[in-house]
Amino acid sequence: MDFNEYRNRGKMMVDYIANYLETIRERRVYPNVSPGYLRNLTPDSAPVDPECWEHIMDDVENIVMPGITHWQSPHMHAYFPALNSFPSLLGDMLADAINCLGFTWASSPACTELEILVMNWLGKMIGLPESFLHTHNESMGGGVIQTTSSEATFVCLLAARTRAIRRLQEIDPDLEDVEINSKLVAYCSDQAHSSVEKAGLIGLVKMRFVESDESLSLRGPQLQEAIAADKKKKLIPFFLCATLGTTGACAFDKLEELGPICQAENMWFHIDAAYAGTAFICPEFRHWLSGVTYADSIAFNPSKWMMVHFDCTAMWVKNSEHLHRTFNVEPLYLQHENSGLAIDYMHWQIPLSKRFRALKLWFVIRSYGIKGLQKHIRDGVQLAKKFELMVINDTRFEIPAARHLGLVVFRLRGENHLTERLLKRLNARGRIHCVPASLKGKYVIRFTVTSQYTTVLDITKDWAEIKATATEIINEYKIHGSDASFNKTKVTLAETRNWNNNFGASLLLANSPMSPKVVNGSFAALFDNGADWSRKLLRSETKDSSSMRRRIRGILMSGKQFSLDSRMDLVQGMIPSSSGKSADAKTKPLEDNNDV
Ligand code: PLP
Repeated sequence: MDFNEYRNRGKMMVDYIANYLETIRERRVYPNVSPGYLRNLTPDSAPVDPECWEHIMDDVENIVMPGITHWQSPHMHAYFPALNSFPSLLGDMLADAINCLGFTWASSPACTELEILVMNWLGKMIGLPESFLHTHNESMGGGVIQTTSSEATFVCLLAARTRAIRRLQEIDPDLEDVEINSKLVAYCSDQAHSSVEKAGLIGLVKMRFVESDESLSLRGPQLQEAIAADKKKKLIPFFLCATLGTTGACAFDKLEELGPICQAENMWFHIDAAYAGTAFICPEFRHWLSGVTYADSIAFNPSKWMMVHFDCTAMWVKNSEHLHRTFNVEPLYLQHENSGLAIDYMHWQIPLSKRFRALKLWFVIRSYGIKGLQKHIRDGVQLAKKFELMVINDTRFEIPAARHLGLVVFRLRGENHLTERLLKRLNARGRIHCVPASLKGKYVIRFTVTSQYTTVLDITKDWAEIKATATEIINEYKIHGSDASFNKTKVTLAETRNWNNNFGASLLLANSPMSPKVVNGSFAALFDNGADWSRKLLRSETKDSSSMRRRIRGILMSGKQFSLDSRMDLVQGMIPSSSGKSADAKTKPLEDNNDV
């Protein structure tokens, strides 16, 4: 492709993207394909000769698009938003063309300096205390763009570990790192995102999940109690990850109660505000930030609700020294004449290289202005309120946790399997897409208002779809509710092959209540080292059940790729009430085959 062809193709691509986004409402939001669908439509090996552009673009529509979940659709209500916007797309197009790697200031000064600037802007926009900002050359605080919230949590946990080890070695220089590490214990609530658990696992530290209160918030007394119990066991509390806007129900931990405890216990206090952080651009939502002054670090994803497309996680620390001590390696080839005088972001993150993500953030903030972004948030919240009202007005449903911001959680009154059945059928039809969560044992459907293009009409249409499907489920329950098969919770592998078109659809986003639970990162990592997990699964977790062992072996031998979620479905799955139909109907509309 030469320059001229690039100019033409580029314009055509912008048209394709604009058309795609403009007509996205017409596409079914959730794809109707089975695992491996793409393999059957594409050659096994890469082309030897160059292919023509038209051919590749044809395949985008014919092969790629049928397998896409349309996250920008107004009918996408699963997870949290992952929005884009034209300023973001165009800003990143430029960043991709420049394609500089901003690991040091010298590797591309504008990359570092624009990141410092936008992180200061953004910090002020959400009302962070000045101690989190890059205010002058000697300031210890500041912001950095990480890839994901998972990574931000992990980075802060590692910095906290470094700080704890150094502090204890100052008291007793004979203490070895590993000795201290084995006693470290971190905390989060039972509603925290699984990435917090993962940070503990890969950081080789114990993670304690503290039970949240009836509003699903982590409170001071419960944390204090857990810390006291651990200290009795000679463990060393060193890190708390509080959540503002939990994944399951958008609940908020009480920073004002937790902060003083962290301070008294010398614990690093990290705040994960992955989704809700964007809302703090509106002052009326900042009451949840009360107590943020106690925090050592905070992160949120502009890549979720702020219309800056993935990836982009804004993370601030009060004292970057601990990041430096954790990540500092300085080979000669990375040193420059301004080393020490300017920020080298390679010391603030795990990878060496970083993309020029600040550019898309800068484009979005400037194009919308604070007012435009506030309007976007407020509109989303208003739509969620409207949806909430619709649910409240139908007595067959209940809302088991308060609506906050753009997320409504709801369920059919009665047993969990009714709501689970409802969700699976909605997803199978593909006209709206939601995922579930488990809140203190209750199975709920999460309905998040995502797109900036969502209208009242869209929400009304979604609710009509949910209501009609609920009527079907309730009527079936009336007829078949007493049949053993209707409530059957286990499926054989053969049944699964025949019926389960929805592998992967049952993604339990939030942890089931599991406190008291401690995940011992050091144990897990050492124990698993070098072992084949699937063989271990057969040997350990399933040793009590020969039939389960056989089923898992069956899956492994089938050579198919199943997600862990599918494995979970195998155990907990629901089966259709009427007779099965072949799962081979890979392109057959699921409406015809949706009795799950
Ligand atoms: N924390 C919370 C509260 C989340 O809701 C999520 C994802 O939705 C994450 C962390 C993980 O975000 P990421 O994909 O950026 O790692």
